[in-house]
Amino acid sequence: MPIRAYKHKHNINNGKIQIIKEILKEYRKTAKGIAKKQWHIFFKEGSFDKNYKVKEIKSKLSERYKQTCQYQVVSILNSYISNRQNDFVEIVYNSNLNEDIKFILLTINKTKSWFNEKLKEAKLKDKKGKEIKKLPIEKHHYKLARKIIKQTFKRNRFPSFKHISMQLDQKVVKIEKRKEEKAKEFDWWVKLSTLEKGKPIYLPVYKNSYFEEKEGKQLNFVQINEKEDNIEIVFFKEIPKETNYIPKTNKISIDIGLKSLFAVNTGHLYGKQFYKFLKHYDRIITDLQANLQKQGIKPKQSKRYKELNRKLREYIKNEINRILNRIFKIYQPKEIVVENLNFQNGELSPQLNRLLSRFGMKIIKQKLKEFEERFGIKITYVNPAYTSQVCSNCKYVDKRNRKTQEQFECLMCGKKINADVNSSRNIGTRSSSSMLRYKRRTVLRMLIRAYLSDAKHYAYNSRAREVILSNKYFIGYYEPLKITSKEKS
Ligand SMILES: [Zn+2]
Repeated sequence: MPIRAYKHKHNINNGKIQIIKEILKEYRKTAKGIAKKQWHIFFKEGSFDKNYKVKEIKSKLSERYKQTCQYQVVSILNSYISNRQNDFVEIVYNSNLNEDIKFILLTINKTKSWFNEKLKEAKLKDKKGKEIKKLPIEKHHYKLARKIIKQTFKRNRFPSFKHISMQLDQKVVKIEKRKEEKAKEFDWWVKLSTLEKGKPIYLPVYKNSYFEEKEGKQLNFVQINEKEDNIEIVFFKEIPKETNYIPKTNKISIDIGLKSLFAVNTGHLYGKQFYKFLKHYDRIITDLQANLQKQGIKPKQSKRYKELNRKLREYIKNEINRILNRIFKIYQPKEIVVENLNFQNGELSPQLNRLLSRFGMKIIKQKLKEFEERFGIKITYVNPAYTSQVCSNCKYVDKRNRKTQEQFECLMCGKKINADVNSSRNIGTRSSSSMLRYKRRTVLRMLIRAYLSDAKHYAYNSRAREVILSNKYFIGYYEPLKITSKEKS
């Protein structure tokens, strides 16, 4: 269930603010000490320990506070490590190491065993879980893995705890609703433990009507942060799903198309008038701009220009919402897979393309977020790199596959399909992978490797080998192919 954060206004007096600032100062100092200890554990054991005995950490904070702090520190450290895991994958994919070593290194990375050397074998399994390959992991593999992960550490500083907020759970904080007869003014009292044992302070907090109205379960969890001279109080709510929603389709994938606004993997196109209309608007605005420029008037000074821009935004927003609602109604999916930011159309001005990729994408994300919260639909964003050049039928990647903006024709298997529909299908198959953060070239290498590792695509077909050998993406991957050709002849 999604958790949402809501800022709350308060009326905490200066004396209490000073007490809170003292706690925050000590909290940050303690976090730094805990992090130091946690890194020590990490380099020895290979992972952090959120239940490490906090007694050994020197601090003015109570044991309960220290434990709360430790949870927060470990979660920050874990997210740092998972980012470095991604960096590791990129380095390995873009290296000249041989395939077996790459596979071993990626296995060490995936299981986070850089430092503990627990794993003795790297096992490659196929989709059904059947073991295909087994390679022994040796000392020098671990040594290399550590060298790589340490390199990523060097490029990205360890998290600092100098400015963190306090994320406090019920060990040290309690939210109390005002009693009917008492304290008319305030709606909430936050009972907060302080540095002095047995001397909590009570913080008066106003209600936030948006928060009150939002359906869901309030969590006994408060975030407190410094904000200039004041402090900021944040409450949390767990938003429930609409329980009577029954999906009709399992998963749909959507491509943000070039000819129509959205292409769905089923082959249907939606919002066919969208770009026509935008092009029309775009021309009027660009003409007006040129005209204004001739007269030496800045566009922002023109009422007509501003009005046109407002209308354009309104149109984009309404169309996106209308069409996404329609798609949702037709398919009623359990999951929607969509590419992350790839909103551009060669026929529109750079200005409008910018507006689309910022404003348009924001509207799409908002709408999908709403589906997620209301109906519990899973929304997955995937890396858009090369989705328009890969064949959704045989997975062959080639720039020449895209005949025109509308037509896709695979040079390898000959599949002919609407180009946007082809992209949407590729987006769908990418949904389960974790490629989101990777650079374009890394994605390309992964696609090529995946294609070549399935030898049935080309091994016994000389025409297929010719096609690959003339594809510049495959430069550097030619050697095994050439050997195969010689062996055959
Ligand atoms: Zn194909």
